[in-house]
Amino acid sequence: MAERTGVGIELADVTKRYPGQAEPAVDGFTMTINPGETTVFVGPSGCGKTTTMRMINRLIEPTSGRITIGGDDALSLNPDELRRRIGYSIQQAGLFPHMTVAQNVGMVPGLLKWDRKRIAERVEEMLSLVGLDPAEFAKRYPRQLSGGQQQRVGVARALAADPPVLLMDEPFGAVDPITRGNLQDELLRLQAELHKTIVFVTHDFDEAVKLGDRIAVLGDQSRILQYDTPEAILANPADDTVAGFVGAGASLKQLTLLRVRDIELGTAATATVGESPASVRERIAAEGRRFVLVLDERRRPLRWVHDRQLGGASLDGAGKPVGDVVSTQSTLQDALEAILTEGGDAVVTGPRGEYAGTVQLDTVVAKIRELREEHA
Ligand code: ADP
Ligand code: MG
Repeated sequence: MAERTGVGIELADVTKRYPGQAEPAVDGFTMTINPGETTVFVGPSGCGKTTTMRMINRLIEPTSGRITIGGDDALSLNPDELRRRIGYSIQQAGLFPHMTVAQNVGMVPGLLKWDRKRIAERVEEMLSLVGLDPAEFAKRYPRQLSGGQQQRVGVARALAADPPVLLMDEPFGAVDPITRGNLQDELLRLQAELHKTIVFVTHDFDEAVKLGDRIAVLGDQSRILQYDTPEAILANPADDTVAGFVGAGASLKQLTLLRVRDIELGTAATATVGESPASVRERIAAEGRRFVLVLDERRRPLRWVHDRQLGGASLDGAGKPVGDVVSTQSTLQDALEAILTEGGDAVVTGPRGEYAGTVQLDTVVAKIRELREEHA
C-alpha cells in the first residue's frame, strides 16, 4: 500500500483562552510546519505545548486564529475528516483497556467504515511496522503488554488510517530510558520510510535534538523563543532562556547530529597478519609512523601494534586488540566514545567489517569548531 506522505500545516495568530483564566494559555501563535518533517515543540511544563498541539486536531477549539492543513481550513473541516488526516498518540499510549490490541489499532479505520478484511490486514501491517508480531499481540489486552509495547501499539493506532499528519504528545514520557531510546530509534526509522508531517511535543531537549528536523523552543503562552534546526539552536541559542534549556554540553550534543560519513577519515599504517614484522617495521619507519593496524586476510582490523612490539617472528598476537570500532553510520559521539575508550584513533569499518579508515580526536574537535563558526 502506498503511504501518504505529509502535508504542511499553517497556524496563524492562534489564541486559546480557557474559561475563567485571566491570561490566554496560547497567545497569538504563528508557525509554518513543513510537510514530511518532524517538528518538535519543546518547553517547560505548563507553557502551552499540549494546548497548541490539540488545536491542530481540534480536540481543543481555538478562541481565535486560523489553522490550515495541506492548504485546507482545519476549522471548517468536519471532525471525522480531520481525524482521518491526523493521527494522535499520547503518553501511556491512551489505549482503551477493554479493547484488544487489534481493536485498538483498527479503531479509526472502523470509524471510517473500512470493511472488516481491510481493517484486519491493516492491523497486521501496522503491528509488524512497529515491531510487534501480530500472531502474538493482536488478541492481547493493553494490561498484558509492557509500557514500551503499549507505546508501540499507540503509534500503530495513530498510523492505522494512514494520515499525512501525526501528532505525538510526550508519547515516550512514561517508559524507562532504555525503552525510550529504542522507541525513539524506531520512530526515526519509521519516519525515514513514511515522511509524515509529525508534530512531537516533549519537555526533554535531548529528545527534541534526536528526533526533530526542526525544533520550536516555547516559552510561556507558547511564545516561540526559537524555531530552527537542532544544529542551529545548539550552535547559537537565541537568548539566555533557550541557552538554559539547551543546557550544558551543547557542543557535545551536536556530535549526535553528525555521522562518521560526514567527516574526512584519517588513515592508519596497516599491515596484513601474515607479513613479517621486520618488513612492517621498516615500512612504517619510512612513513614516519609508530603504530600499525594489523588486519586479517579479509582486511578486518585485529590489533594495534607499536613499532617496539615488532621484534617477534609473527604479527599474530602482537600489540593490543582493537576494541570498539565504529561504522560510517555511527554518530561522531559514538566515535568520540571509541576514541576515549581505546585511548587513540577510532577504527572505522565498512559493511563487511573491513577497515575503512580512522577518526582522530583532532578531526572531531575541528568539526565542532567549524559548526560553531558556521552558525555564529
Ligand atoms: P503543557 O502541555 O506545555 O504542559 P498545557 O497546554 O497543558 O501545557 O497548559 C497550558 C496552560 O493552560 C497551563 O497553565 C494550564 O494550567 C492551562 N490549562 C490547560 N488546560 C486547561 C483547561 N482545560 N482549563 C483551564 N486551564 C487549562
Ligand atoms: Mg502537555
